[in-house]
Amino acid sequence: MKVNFDHWIDGQSAPARDGGQFTTKSPVDGAEIATIAMGTAADVEDAVSAAQAAASAWRRQKPIARGRLLMRLAESILAHADELARLEAGEAGKPDSNARQEIAGAAAYFEFYGGLVNSLHGETIDLGPEHHSFTRREPFGVVGVITPWNVPLNQAARAAAPALAAGNVVVIKPSEFTSATTLVLARLATEVGFPPGVLNVVTGDGQGPGSALVKNPGVRKIVFTGSVRAGREVGRVAADRIIPLTLELGGKSANIVFADADLDRAAAMSLVAFTMNTGQVCSAGTRLLVQRPVHDEFVARLVEATEKLSAAGTLGPVTTRAQYDKVIEYFEIARDDGAHAAVGGVAIGDRGDGFFVPPTIYTDVDNSMRIAREEVFGPVVVVIAFDDEQEAVSVANDSDYGLVSGVWTRDISRALRVADQLETGQVFVNTWFAGGVETPFGGYKQSGYGREKGVEALHHYTQVKSVTVAL
Ligand code: NAD
Repeated sequence: MKVNFDHWIDGQSAPARDGGQFTTKSPVDGAEIATIAMGTAADVEDAVSAAQAAASAWRRQKPIARGRLLMRLAESILAHADELARLEAGEAGKPDSNARQEIAGAAAYFEFYGGLVNSLHGETIDLGPEHHSFTRREPFGVVGVITPWNVPLNQAARAAAPALAAGNVVVIKPSEFTSATTLVLARLATEVGFPPGVLNVVTGDGQGPGSALVKNPGVRKIVFTGSVRAGREVGRVAADRIIPLTLELGGKSANIVFADADLDRAAAMSLVAFTMNTGQVCSAGTRLLVQRPVHDEFVARLVEATEKLSAAGTLGPVTTRAQYDKVIEYFEIARDDGAHAAVGGVAIGDRGDGFFVPPTIYTDVDNSMRIAREEVFGPVVVVIAFDDEQEAVSVANDSDYGLVSGVWTRDISRALRVADQLETGQVFVNTWFAGGVETPFGGYKQSGYGREKGVEALHHYTQVKSVTVAL
């Protein structure tokens, strides 16, 4: 059943000022899921004004009072998991179980930062007996949040929860493909008692309301998750305006398997690493580096597991037509560059209007090939053989990206030595997708800057003021 959504501004539903709307469709079968307000700069202006009006009272609330509201929102998200999962699965094409996992994760952000809110504090600085000097951590004011379509509610929560905990007010512009759950989030926030204007959502595309949000003079910080291309555009505007920016961009993450690893576990998790959410995860493990003595055996295990996954038919489609076309184009690029598709690598022709693509493993890959350097954002992994530790580190680091890496070995000294040398914001040892809301997350190199998650993120949503008193 198609549902209708307007923006959420100042604690209520608000249609686009010019009446514009667009429709989101299921990537599984093309069915219409929701009609959504198509925002313009005028709607962004309304949302930013509402946020500005709410800012002063919100930041002056006792932190513990803000924290209680965040906790209530966490409970409400879980209580509305059915509604949220239906919309998230509908718009993004995710299996219901995935959607529910991500929704639980979204609730955890509000729970975590709701509890952490009182840990924000400054320091005293010793200037000698004639002064008393201290620092305060203060919110920026209006924080603009722009999210992509792959893990929509979770990514909105990842930014909004620490921003709100630290005393900022928020305007979110979700992806035009997956807006519904972020709108429900804002409604739930109002229902549990967030004052009007503290959390607003304006929907529509990147060039319209997305760009208008970044340019709006009332916005004091931007948090952007998405492609490097759009991240650059946002970065240029932020540089002109001299406002801080957190960028969470893409990845081409190396997953290094040494010959002494537990190959059963490594193969099982390496499959998850490149197929989770149909590979539409920025931290997917998409460059598999395997030490030569176990290369053939490891590939054989992974191919077998991938064929089973394909046969089970449990992998959802990719979320957009453009993403589908991109994955298919990379199949051609990989073939033309001489990579061998050990499994997959050709379009699935029999799934109707759905954007289904096969999980794919490429061997005979050189790290200079486009399929090894560029982010596909689909269930596609390349396998590259290596001889020794130094070669593994150097191939892993030979990438424009630096989001995540993984090391599989039974030798803890080697694991730590390699982790130390990898140029990525996260390193997983004998696991993948580990860590929770507690662990700082973000990129090195073109994967972005700034950090989400953990206590670290709370600090990224504050600016430090020092106050010095002559005694
Ligand atoms: P995208 O960059 O096209 O869009 C992301 C968001 O930015 C959308 O809301 C879009 O409307 C908006 N946008 C686009 N152009 C804009 C502009 N000029 N100004 C303001 N807003 C603009 O990305 P996508 O296709 O939605 O998502 C896929 C990409 O996101 C992948 O490259 C993936 O790696 C990346 N990603 C990164 C992370 C991370 O945490 N590092 C997480 C998820 C996705």
